[in-house]
Amino acid sequence: MSAGGLRGLVELLRFVRPFRVRFGAAVAASMVSMGFGLMFPWLVGRLLDASIPSLKAVPVAPWMSDLDTVALVLIGTLALQAGLTFFSSYSFNRVGESAVVGLRRELYERLLGLPMKFFGEHRVGELASRLSNDLAQIQDTLTFLFAAAIRQSMMLVGGVAMIAATSLRLSLVMISSFPVLILLAVVFGRRIRRLSRAAQDRLAESATVVEETLQGIANVKAFTNEAYEVRRYGSALEAFLAIVVRSAKYRAGLIAFIIVGIFGSIVLVLWYGARLMKAGALSHGELTQFMLYTTFVGGAVSSFAEIVSQGQKAIGATERVRELLGETPENIQHPTSNIQHPTAEIGGAVSFEDVSFRYPSRPDLAVLQNITLHAAPGEKIALVGPSGAGKSTIVSLLLRFYEPESGRLLLDGRDAREFDLAAVRRSIAIVPQEVLLFGGSIRDNIAYGKPGASDDEIRDAARRAHCAEFIERFPEGYDTLVGERGVKLSGGQRQRVAIARAFLRDPRILIFDEATSSLDSESEALIQEAFATLLEGRTAFVIAHRLATVRRVDRIYVIEQGSVTESGSHDELIVRPGGTYRRLAEMQFAS
Ligand code: ATP
Repeated sequence: MSAGGLRGLVELLRFVRPFRVRFGAAVAASMVSMGFGLMFPWLVGRLLDASIPSLKAVPVAPWMSDLDTVALVLIGTLALQAGLTFFSSYSFNRVGESAVVGLRRELYERLLGLPMKFFGEHRVGELASRLSNDLAQIQDTLTFLFAAAIRQSMMLVGGVAMIAATSLRLSLVMISSFPVLILLAVVFGRRIRRLSRAAQDRLAESATVVEETLQGIANVKAFTNEAYEVRRYGSALEAFLAIVVRSAKYRAGLIAFIIVGIFGSIVLVLWYGARLMKAGALSHGELTQFMLYTTFVGGAVSSFAEIVSQGQKAIGATERVRELLGETPENIQHPTSNIQHPTAEIGGAVSFEDVSFRYPSRPDLAVLQNITLHAAPGEKIALVGPSGAGKSTIVSLLLRFYEPESGRLLLDGRDAREFDLAAVRRSIAIVPQEVLLFGGSIRDNIAYGKPGASDDEIRDAARRAHCAEFIERFPEGYDTLVGERGVKLSGGQRQRVAIARAFLRDPRILIFDEATSSLDSESEALIQEAFATLLEGRTAFVIAHRLATVRRVDRIYVIEQGSVTESGSHDELIVRPGGTYRRLAEMQFAS
C-alpha cells in the first residue's frame, strides 16, 4: 500500500480515537474469536478420526479419541467463538456509527463556517454528496471493513500454516493450481470492474437528463418537448443497457470459469488426497481438515480483493473529507489577533473608502472600482443602478462575505476587520429580494431572526411587519407550515415575514433589497409601511427599485459598472440634466 494510503488509514483511525478502549477490545475479541475459528477444521478432523479408523493413525491425547468428548469440545469452541464475535461485531458497529455521527456533525459545522468564496467554488450537490456518500463509506469501513480485514488476515495466515502442517505434499499440489486460477480471476475481475464503472457513468448521465428535465418541467411543457425529453432519456438508457449486457457476458463467463476452475482444482486435491490416504500417508480426518482449511483460505483470499477495493474507496473518501476539514474557516482567515473590539457594540456608521473588488471565481472582472460611500448612524442610503452594476456586491462586502481587494470598509470609523466577524453580522439584518422560507411553521421562520425569541416577541414583530393579518387568517395561525410541503406564501407575504425577522433581530444596520417585480398595490403599501417603521433609528442600505423608496432616503448613490457615478438626494439628482439618475427615475428604475 502506498504511503498516502497508509496515511489515509491512520487518518481513519483518528476518527475512532474517542472510542479507543472499546475499539481495542473489539479488535482483541475478534482475534481471539478467529483463533477458535481456526480450531474448527482440526477438531472436525479429530471427530472423523475418532469414528472411522484410517490406515494412518494421527497421534492425539487419549481423551481426543473419544467421539463424544471431541464433539463437546467442538460445541464449546463454537459457543466461545459466537460470544466473542457478538461482542466484537456489536462494538465495531457501535464505535463506527458513533465516530461517524461525530464526524458528520464536525464536518457540517466546519462547512457552515467556511467563507462565501468556498461556496462560490463548489457545487451544492457535490458538498451534499460528500456529507452523505463519503461519510457512509467511512462508516462502512469502521463498522465492517476493519473487522473483516483482521478476521480474513488471521484466517489466511493461520489457514495456510495449518494446511502446510497437515500435509506438505498435498499443499504443493493445491498451490500448483493457483497461478491459473488467479490469472483468470484477475483478468475477468478487471474487465467486469471496468465495465461496471462505465455502466455507472452512463446511468449517472441518464439521471442528469431526468434531473434537468424535472427541474425545468415548466419549460419542457411550455415547449411541448415531452417526447423529445423521453427520447433523450431513452438514448441515455440504451447506452447504459449496451454496457450492462456486455458486462453480463463477462459475469456469466466468470461463473462458468468458477465451476470448471475451482471445482476442478478441488477434484484434483481430493484425488491426490485419496491416493495419499490409500497409501496410509493421510487419515480421513486429515483430508477433511485439509479441505476445510482450504475453503477457509480460499474464502479469505477472495474476500481480500473486496476488502482492498473497499479500503481504497474509504481512503479516497477520507481524503476528500480531510480536505474539507482542512479548509480555513472564515473567522480564522481574519485572524483574531486583529480583533481589538470583540464585544464592541456597533453604532451604525458605515463607510466604504476607495473599495475595489473582484470575485475570487472571476478574477478578470473588476466588479467594484474605487467605491467610496458613507452612512452616518441612522442615515438611510439608497443604491440604484442598472442590473449587474455591483449593488448586491457592495452589500456582500458590508456583510463581510468577502474582503475588499483594496480600500477599506469602516464601521464606526474603525477598520471592519478590528471587529469580530460574528458581532458585525449580528448587528446587521437583511431583507432580501427573494425570501427563502425553510420547511417549518411560520413561527419558526420568523424566529429565525432571533432564535429563542418568546411568543410575544414573535407576535409583536409579526404585527409590526403587517404579517399578523394574513397569519391569523390561516386556521392554524402561527403553526401553519410553510416551505416545500406547507402552504405557499405570496412574494409580498414572504417579504413581510423577512421584515418580521428583521424586527426581531433589532439590528443597527439594515439591508433591504427591494423586489424588482412589482407586487399588488395593497401588498406594496403594507410593505412600504412596515419598512418605514423598521427603518426608524437604524442605518439602512436599500437597493431600490421604486421611486417611493428613494424619496424616503437621505442619500442616493448611483452605481454604474462598479463605480459611484452620482450621489445626492432625490431632489438634487432629479434636476441634474443628462444624469443617469434622472434617466433611471424616468424609467421608474426599470432595471
Ligand atoms: P442586480 O440589480 O441585477 O441584482 P447588481 O447591481 O446587484 O445587479 P451584482 O449582483 O453586484 O449586481 O453583480 C455585479 C457583477 O458581479 C455582475 O457582473 C455579476 O455577474 C458579478 N457577480 C455577482 N456575484 C458573483 C459571484 N458570486 N461570483 C462571480 N461574479 C459575480
